[in-house]
Amino acid sequence: MTCKDCGKTIGPQQYKASKDSLGITLCERHSKLIKRVILDNNTPLEAIHLFYALKEAGVHPMLEWWDGKKSVDIAISRVKLNIEIDKDYNMITHEQAINDLEDAMHSFKNGFTTVRIPHLAIKYYLDETVENILGIISGLKANIKAI
Ligand SMILES: [Zn+2]
Repeated sequence: MTCKDCGKTIGPQQYKASKDSLGITLCERHSKLIKRVILDNNTPLEAIHLFYALKEAGVHPMLEWWDGKKSVDIAISRVKLNIEIDKDYNMITHEQAINDLEDAMHSFKNGFTTVRIPHLAIKYYLDETVENILGIISGLKANIKAI
């Protein structure tokens, strides 16, 4: 078993520890790093899973990227794509809903596209979610070339 981040070989104990707490295989160092990110930003686990799935797909994502105003769950800077994971639609307040839309508008004005992905899509359809994001990335690349 190897760490999904650095490829370092990990023992069965570390495998179980990181699988149980994070749902992915990471070495001790990377487990600590990711847990720190989660503590600091309240990052949903699905964002971590998507981050590593995108990495595997050859994308260069950034986790909890600071855009100057707020932290974005996942950013793909080459195509100025921000990905936010929606935790739970039923938990969202109306203030949160309009704030999210306003944030998306500000990012859009700065040339960033914001995609909101429900956490359930990542939980149950990780491969399809990655496929769709890859499609969005190639669409954005085409647009950049067109300008
Ligand atoms: Zn590692």
